[in-house]
Amino acid sequence: TAGPERASAMLSGSPASAADRGHARHKGSFGDVAIVGGATGMAGAALLAARAAHAAGSGRVYVDVLDAAPLTLDATRPELMFRRGWWQTASAEASTVVAGCGGGTAIREALPRLLSTAGRLVLDADALNAVSADPSLAALLAARQTRQRETVLTPHPLEAARLLNTDTASVQSDRLAAAGRLASQFGCVVVLKGSGSVIAAPDGALWINGTGNAALASAGTGDVLAGWIGGCWSASGSGALEAARHATWLHGLAAELSPTAPLRAADLVEAMHSAGARR
Ligand code: AMP
Ligand code: MG
Repeated sequence: TAGPERASAMLSGSPASAADRGHARHKGSFGDVAIVGGATGMAGAALLAARAAHAAGSGRVYVDVLDAAPLTLDATRPELMFRRGWWQTASAEASTVVAGCGGGTAIREALPRLLSTAGRLVLDADALNAVSADPSLAALLAARQTRQRETVLTPHPLEAARLLNTDTASVQSDRLAAAGRLASQFGCVVVLKGSGSVIAAPDGALWINGTGNAALASAGTGDVLAGWIGGCWSASGSGALEAARHATWLHGLAAELSPTAPLRAADLVEAMHSAGARR
């Protein structure tokens, strides 16, 4: 398992630190992230993921909000670019896609294309629920590994239970086994969230994250984690596993450093940005 030493070694190599960004690099060097989610009434989940992807170091962040009401600006984060219908038109091959945050049932329509084309894909929340409910989506997900396309799943225990066709109590009674089973079944990197998030690799390796506390038990913190994984993955050029482990560790660290609880998710983005920059 990864101890704190290993985790801080990863963090000192953080792509988000200014020193690592290099003199001649431009925003194109740090990759594009696209956030697809935020069905009606849940646009905030997509915004939180987008802010996190941007703060994690992605060069450009596009937000495809599925809410029927058009959203064209995050006034607090004017760096974010809004692209309605991005999932239908964009070439997702070169992008890191974070799908499902606040996605409702609207995310279902986008998933066949995203699962087939996204070069790097993070699936959270309602994207995971859609995969649980639809065997054809589960098959597309499992096929990604054979096409050398990496995927990260970020279920909380109930989402994991749905994917495994079991109940939350069974997942929680052996979290390592549940995360490992998901990783091998779908050929993905899995972050099984909760106190002591478990990270599982498709080859069977497992880690328990040592940071975090109940200040994270607040709406939107999961969206921040998914977006941060996407941003870190895009910016660093490292693999899915490194991005998932690093983001999960920093997410928990920021909560530990925060003087207030519960943490508001928008504040968590800023806390992670400062915690990452300090290291
Ligand atoms: P979600 O369930 O999608 O809203 O995500 C919640 C996030 O907060 C996940 O990253 C969890 O690991 C984290 N979290 C929630 N409660 C706790 C807790 N008691 N201790 C540590 N992390 C937590
Ligand atoms: Mg969630």
